[in-house]
Amino acid sequence: MLINTIRRAARLAIDCVVGDVCVLCQLPLTAHQWRDPLGLNDHMCPYCRTAVALNTNACGHCALPLPIAQKTCGRCLYTPLTHLAVAPVLHQHCGAYLVHQLKFHRGEREALALASFLLTAINQHYPSSAALPDLLIPVPIAPWTQLRRGYNPPEWLARTLQKQLDVAVADDLVTRKSGPSQRTLSRSQRMRLAKNTFSLKHKIAPSILSSRHVAIVDDVLTTGATVAVLKRTLQRAGASRVDVWSATRA
Ligand SMILES: [Zn+2]
Ligand SMILES: [Zn+2]
Repeated sequence: MLINTIRRAARLAIDCVVGDVCVLCQLPLTAHQWRDPLGLNDHMCPYCRTAVALNTNACGHCALPLPIAQKTCGRCLYTPLTHLAVAPVLHQHCGAYLVHQLKFHRGEREALALASFLLTAINQHYPSSAALPDLLIPVPIAPWTQLRRGYNPPEWLARTLQKQLDVAVADDLVTRKSGPSQRTLSRSQRMRLAKNTFSLKHKIAPSILSSRHVAIVDDVLTTGATVAVLKRTLQRAGASRVDVWSATRA
């Protein structure tokens, strides 16, 4: 915790001396440049903001990129992954770089850049603030990974969204069983993610989740196996509707 505070203070000190720079091209940003339409400092210059490849036509339930005019993928026609999936950026080039920086280099600025794309998409998908979820659930990482990294990337995204949308974040409701990192597994191994990967705090979970509309928040949505298992865990505790908000879609 102390190390985190020192790192943040050092970053702020560097900002004061060098000034803010774009997370993608590293060129200096002026105050009016970084004000994106939502008023969030996304640390991106206007040019790089347009260079990020967007997931413009995707399945409404799993965010899989689809040909124009198709709204639902074949898999979700029979078993929808979630009620509504939002994943505004394609996990390639700039999008993949931003997630990599967030995950492995404590990319707080990259988290804000990704959250700004998420916010724009959320505003498009939910007609009013009344339609927003009651609760955001960041996908937990294994305890050992959390200890080693000192932070959980999806939680950083969820906290930024919380401030902008005024939706509560439940970051200690679900725990993840220790196991091999998803990155080290093949696609078929990921698809067989154990049903007991996540566990809920049984004493409080039912009262918090009962009849609630929740959104799972993640940095990258790949096979959907993690979301499917977490969704079932949340539904077993009473959640009435489960959406997923992921910064990027692989
Ligand atoms: Zn730039
Ligand atoms: Zn789908």
